[in-house]
Amino acid sequence: MNWQATVLTLFPEMFPGPLGLSLAGRALEKGLWTCRTEDLRQHGLGRHRAVDDTPFGGGAGMVIRPDVVDAAFAASQAPSDVPRVYLTPRGRPLTQQDVRRYAAGSGVLLLCGRFEGVDERVLQAHGVEQVSIGDYILSGGETAALVLLDACVRLLPGVMGCEESGVEESFSEGLLEYPHYTRPAEWEGRAVPEILLSGNHAAIAAWRQKQAEEITRERRPDLWSAWLARKERNMAEAV
Ligand code: SAM
Repeated sequence: MNWQATVLTLFPEMFPGPLGLSLAGRALEKGLWTCRTEDLRQHGLGRHRAVDDTPFGGGAGMVIRPDVVDAAFAASQAPSDVPRVYLTPRGRPLTQQDVRRYAAGSGVLLLCGRFEGVDERVLQAHGVEQVSIGDYILSGGETAALVLLDACVRLLPGVMGCEESGVEESFSEGLLEYPHYTRPAEWEGRAVPEILLSGNHAAIAAWRQKQAEEITRERRPDLWSAWLARKERNMAEAV
């Protein structure tokens, strides 16, 4: 059974978009995953198929109606056990842990907002998770959905070759990854760190670990504190 992505959107033509190419595109061709869209406009009201209305309480912009989203959920025929996710800057930040959970299941149902967003009641009624891809505002949820799908699809069995293996990536151990170098060994006066040419695998592993720790401490104090706390807990449990 392949992994099924279903996307509720006003712009179905944006899918699979860039995910029809490269790694995800090859996986799509091989049938390792499928990408279905449900056009919210098809469930709009009246002659103009209106999907949005003005916000109660006043304020700028328009809000996507709950009845329109509800009808799209029903028509999507996505399996009832897949996570339902609304992409929104008001959501909890998407993490690699979420991505692993989504990829381990049978698929996801993604709801893409536009305008000011979606009526809150339909999200509650359908037990929808609210997820953000970062602290900035996009014009619509489609590009965020593509980000989430890209992150999931590359983890599906059979998608990544060993040259693209995700075992040692950033976040896999709670740290950012060490820096990478390839040929030439010297480029425009900049040499590759000597240790990487030594052939001493233990020393290389220790150097990479130290680099990962330093980069994480400097760039992501939040991840660094969590990593230190986990390390302390593991040490306490070991004694
Ligand atoms: N008024 C909303 C707010 O301030 O939270 C922003 C609405 S935004 C212009 C339109 C749609 O883009 C949202 O409903 C959401 O689906 C999507 N979107 C925007 N930024 C996002 C982000 N950082 N992560 C996920 N989705 C986002």
